[in-house]
Amino acid sequence: MISVIVPCFNEEEAIPLFFAEMEKVKRKVSHGFEYIFINDGSKDRTLEVLRELARDNDFVRYISFSRNFGKEAALYAGLQAAKGELVTVMDVDLQDPPELLPQMVEMIETTDIDCVGTRRADRKGEPLIRNLFAKAFYHLINRISETEMVDGARDYRLMTRQMVDAVLELTEHNRFSKGLFSWVGFKTEYISFENQERIAGKTSWSFWELFNYSIDGIVNFSDVPLNIASFVGAFSCIASGIAMLFIIVRALIFGDPTSGWPSLVTIILFIGGVQLLCIGIIGKYIGKIFMETKKRPVYIVKETEKKLEQ
Ligand code: UDP
Ligand code: MG
Repeated sequence: MISVIVPCFNEEEAIPLFFAEMEKVKRKVSHGFEYIFINDGSKDRTLEVLRELARDNDFVRYISFSRNFGKEAALYAGLQAAKGELVTVMDVDLQDPPELLPQMVEMIETTDIDCVGTRRADRKGEPLIRNLFAKAFYHLINRISETEMVDGARDYRLMTRQMVDAVLELTEHNRFSKGLFSWVGFKTEYISFENQERIAGKTSWSFWELFNYSIDGIVNFSDVPLNIASFVGAFSCIASGIAMLFIIVRALIFGDPTSGWPSLVTIILFIGGVQLLCIGIIGKYIGKIFMETKKRPVYIVKETEKKLEQ
């Protein structure tokens, strides 16, 4: 059986389209399907749509959160609930083409790979600034983190049960799936496809959310920023030490009646800036530790399809 995990946030229009498309693809695969839709605190009729779908099809399950916990939490809930020998994760907006699934299933069954990932061949149809930042992010994270992250890789992937179990072993609160899937290792191969437009609704990510998400990725998978902070701190100490010596010696030899103000202000500003920067970086990590020590659940379930039957 294949478990299909689908996070949904305000997707009332997209769900029926997605389901119809998937049922077509299902005929090309000899496996049974189990759908697990996660309603991530949608404000529209997503839950009603899912209830109906689950009522009419006993292979459709859903998990409804008590509020919006984010796509990462939805993925986690789906992975925990999945029972299939193979597990796939897909967006409901058809930006992850279901047509690729038969090929992915074949790849995973005929070779010894544990995971088939997908990546977009291009970023067509996306804002230029977003592309630039995405490029910069992947370039940076692959330099400073030991966990490799593939540029353009989507969350859409097909995994073996063994790999899913490994991902579930990682119980951290701050979840950055792209990193987690890569961190557990196993053999992953990627197939590329053309970027697809969203079928209905609109994206729920703003530029700032994506920006913060990428900072999360960096802080969760690298301690290089901390090292940079220490290095910059040490460097500025030495530099200002030399400058200080120079200024003192100069004043002793030539005297310094009124000048000196520019050098003073420059040094104060420089050191102040460096300190703030370093404190900021350290603060980011402490914030993560703080959230992690609370051991709060990643999500809270309000309703599942089982409650309907009772
Ligand atoms: N999603 C979610 N919770 C959120 C935001 C998004 O479950 O808080 C789901 C959404 O319904 C969709 C998938 O995550 O199935 C990808 O979201 P979206 O298409 O908005 O992102 P984009 O494709 O623009 O990166
Ligand atoms: Mg999308």
